[in-house]
Amino acid sequence: MAAVKKAKAPCSAKPAPRAKAGVRAAAKLILLGPPGAGKGTQAEALVREFGVPHISTGDILRAAVKAGTPVGRKAKAYMDRGELVPDSIVVEIVSERLRQPDCSRGWLLDGFPRSLAQAEALEGSVEGAGDGARVVYLRVNPEAVVERLSGRRLCRNCGAGYHVRFMPPSKEGRCDKCGGELYQRDDDKPATIRTRLETYGRQTAELIERYRSRGILLEIAGDGEVQGVREAVLGAVRRSLSGG
Ligand SMILES: [Zn+2]
Repeated sequence: MAAVKKAKAPCSAKPAPRAKAGVRAAAKLILLGPPGAGKGTQAEALVREFGVPHISTGDILRAAVKAGTPVGRKAKAYMDRGELVPDSIVVEIVSERLRQPDCSRGWLLDGFPRSLAQAEALEGSVEGAGDGARVVYLRVNPEAVVERLSGRRLCRNCGAGYHVRFMPPSKEGRCDKCGGELYQRDDDKPATIRTRLETYGRQTAELIERYRSRGILLEIAGDGEVQGVREAVLGAVRRSLSGG
């Protein structure tokens, strides 16, 4: 459990920002939330506040493949065949990343685990990924997500983004910048969003229950205004790390 003091290893990666004074416990954080819950924004806030590296599974998977590491090559074989990379390989890549020196004071895991099986595999290979972690779960009202995401529009011509309610173009259906036609991506159609939310809920239900029953789940209403959600998230993690 005790961290062994080691000489600082040379590291080419950008150092994680220093944690603010007063934060003592290593912040091992897992961020959960359905599509449209605003995870990206909250991940940034957590990384800044606790001075931990942001470990996004998609990013490190791509990095391992690009670097051609042994496990990266295994993953690439699946990706080349258009198949999903198996959990065991993702766990290997994640645990390899979490052993890097910049993770010694904690980390923020984003996008993983997403199922009970993945969580069990992770806990088997990473110290502190179980009871030592704090799980921030951004809970959202599905219909609010549908409303927000389904309002997005893109310009066919220049790619500019709009929102029918929050950032409407001055002329309906036309791009302000180039006059191009605005359209809705298939991913932003209400039926698609509902399906993705349902899938996420099904995959993560047992996972969330596991974390809740262990008392490490920090459940935050993610629907409100960004600033308020951020304060709720940071406050909950701070209290939890200080044992309060
Ligand atoms: Zn345009």
